[in-house]
Amino acid sequence: MMRLGVDLGGTKIEIIALDERGKELLRRRMPTPQGDYLGTLNIIAQLVRDVEAELGNQGTLGIGTPGALSRATGLLRNSNSVALNGKPVLNDLEELLQRKISISNDANCFALSEAVDGAAAGAEVVFGVILGTGVGAGIVVNGKVLTGPNAIAGEWGHNPLPWPVTDEIPGPACYCGKHGCIETFLSGPGMMKLHQQMTGTKITSAEIVQHAEQGDAACERTMQIYEHRLARGLAHVINILDPDVIVLGGGMSNIERLYANVPKRWGNWVFSDRVDTKLVKNKYGDSSGVRGAAWL
Ligand SMILES: [Zn+2]
Repeated sequence: MMRLGVDLGGTKIEIIALDERGKELLRRRMPTPQGDYLGTLNIIAQLVRDVEAELGNQGTLGIGTPGALSRATGLLRNSNSVALNGKPVLNDLEELLQRKISISNDANCFALSEAVDGAAAGAEVVFGVILGTGVGAGIVVNGKVLTGPNAIAGEWGHNPLPWPVTDEIPGPACYCGKHGCIETFLSGPGMMKLHQQMTGTKITSAEIVQHAEQGDAACERTMQIYEHRLARGLAHVINILDPDVIVLGGGMSNIERLYANVPKRWGNWVFSDRVDTKLVKNKYGDSSGVRGAAWL
């Protein structure tokens, strides 16, 4: 059975075809038409028809997109493809393509891709985290995305940073309207802001990591605070979900030292005498979103 996955982003729409063992058969991408809902649906439909015609086979179809489909209304919310917000994306696409389609948010797709045949392959409970310009997360249990009645399972990024120290309260303002969200501390811009507060210097998170490696004491201090925060944030998750594996994705997942340093720290807050949870780097990188959509 062939599987098709579509990653519907704010700037590009990507499609992938996988065979039943997860081997990539084909991949295509098109720019997302800006502000054009029907145009966006038509491009997805065209990509699906083209790929199926080329491969001479019909596949299952899953779609990954930022935002979540409300279970109560069937309308998409919180997508960065704003033309899609408030629209019955799934119903309209199913009608257009005359078939059943699965849809989930991009963080869930990331977690699913890594749980099926990626860095967390074979693990029972997987918490997948995207640490990038924003912070998102998804939960996969026994190879299935956990969605929840509100379709927000795993929305960790807009919880407050746990066990805060004095200067973390109330924390930076977040676009969601609250202060001190995990995203404001653990995103790439969050690390930049931390370093700027500590030193008055504005450099990118990649530069901070690099300078710390070269022995810069101020950058090393920023890295240690970041790791302390990530350890607290993930310890909170371990206390609730107790996942077998936590997989990191997004730009910050390329910081190799996190995989050694964060598990060294998180035991301070995990309510257990030992912590066997694994913290691993993703296997599929930027392809995890579109691959996970295919596995939906
Ligand atoms: Zn927030």
